[in-house]
Amino acid sequence: MAPPKLTVIGLDAATFDVIDPLLAAGQLPNIARVLDSGTGATLRSTTHPLTPHAWTTMVTGVNAGRHGVWDFVERDETGYELRVINGSYRRAAAVWDRLRLSGKRVGLVNIPFTWPAPKVNGFAIAGMDAAARESGMTNPPELFDELRREFGPLELDHRFPVTSEGEPDLDFIRRAAEQKVEITLRLSDRFEPELLWVVFMAADHIHHAAWPDWEDRGPDSAVAETYRILDQAVGRLVEAASGNDVMLVSDHGGGSLRGVVNLNAWLAQEGYLTYTRPTEQLDRKFVDALFALRRRIPKRLRYWVKQRAGGLRERMYERRQYSVVDWAQTRAFSYGAFGNIVVNVRGRNQHGTVEPGDEYDRVREEIAAKAMGIRGPDGEPIVAAVHRREDLFEGPQIEKIPDLLVEFHNYEWLGKGNLKTRAETIWDRIELEPGSKHEYVGSHRHDGIFALAGPSATKRERSAIEIADVAPTVLYLLGEEIPVDLEGRVVAEAIDPEVLDRRPPEYDDITLMKVGRPAEGYAPEDAEEVERRLRGLGYIE
Ligand SMILES: [Zn+2]
Repeated sequence: MAPPKLTVIGLDAATFDVIDPLLAAGQLPNIARVLDSGTGATLRSTTHPLTPHAWTTMVTGVNAGRHGVWDFVERDETGYELRVINGSYRRAAAVWDRLRLSGKRVGLVNIPFTWPAPKVNGFAIAGMDAAARESGMTNPPELFDELRREFGPLELDHRFPVTSEGEPDLDFIRRAAEQKVEITLRLSDRFEPELLWVVFMAADHIHHAAWPDWEDRGPDSAVAETYRILDQAVGRLVEAASGNDVMLVSDHGGGSLRGVVNLNAWLAQEGYLTYTRPTEQLDRKFVDALFALRRRIPKRLRYWVKQRAGGLRERMYERRQYSVVDWAQTRAFSYGAFGNIVVNVRGRNQHGTVEPGDEYDRVREEIAAKAMGIRGPDGEPIVAAVHRREDLFEGPQIEKIPDLLVEFHNYEWLGKGNLKTRAETIWDRIELEPGSKHEYVGSHRHDGIFALAGPSATKRERSAIEIADVAPTVLYLLGEEIPVDLEGRVVAEAIDPEVLDRRPPEYDDITLMKVGRPAEGYAPEDAEEVERRLRGLGYIE
């Protein structure tokens, strides 16, 4: 059996802010070995540093204006309603698409936003965008049943590892990590991928659920224990790499959360957004209640109801896509959780009120200037920058990106865009489960991690890289030519100068591959399932 030429281990949200103190305490021996024998770097993530966007930039090497994946959801044709997205919405080639063309074998395990599992020469298991059902979960498809027979139900780390009491569920984290390693090693033996890329979600989830515990108790915290569990997983994968190249990456960092700003309530205060009248909202609450009731019907009766009320579910599902915003009286609104503002433009949004051109520019500038003045509860400024989308992004998918991006200081604050609930104050919270008393206590940071060890690596001081540098570096390490239109660079400072001398990076003129696959929506029942899970992660309303 041949070990992978390159093993990429992704630890979603892993940060040196946790790793360094634990290394200093003599913990994380396996991550220590990778860092000590190779080169580490802080990895500057995307703006916003959000999982779907960040991983997609990492695996494609291009910006969101080209790959088109911005958030867990995107706005539909009306410009208002949100649909959950998945890997099929990606509009730029990932490294594995390129490797498939050159006939290289690849193994992918749980990379976020890879549902349906990509066709590769090798194997793929979809990421957190997968619906729980088997469709699209693996490639080859029959792998799903095989894995279930051999390993039991898949312990996917796609939900928050908290007990019903809101306590970190370390047993689940351990079980999920161990099973993932077992599955990965088994499939790697069998398919012998040249590139093996596996992602663990636990650090991200434990940051959101328990960051203050890390600040209070350090090495004794659940956050530290989660990193130790992940370190064990890293150790087993490094061992299986048998001395070949290993890369460690995260898609962004993590840290404290000081507060959540309800940007729609703020826009309403500033006179840019108008809420509908409460009576209309009541009507919609009724639909919601009806929907919830439906779930309580025993399964055997559901069929009976379905037969007699065919199409009701679809009609109800459509009716559920409502908002509390009076679009015809609104000039701008927010959606998502990280600070997005969309101008309600005539001709682009169904009930647009702002003329494109001068009026659009003026409204956008006004809002940007006012947003810079948003203050925290103690009167301190909390917004670091407000970006116009074209200042950070370019490409044919730029319409997927909101007009203004509010970047809060250090992402210690988040900017939520509630469209289904009306808020009286601009201060909000993100629940871990809908209606739960437990809420987000941790947030993301721009700085993630990168490290390279193995025969191609050199030993150097820690440097800094951009997230888009990962894709060209992976292609280089696999002996591929690098397409000239990738936006990142080969991280040469982490590579042995002799290796670079012998084989300097070669660039290929061929411009970006077309990704021909049409975006694939979820079946209504799958959409409901995925939405419920994302709601459970606090990412959608
Ligand atoms: Zn992430």
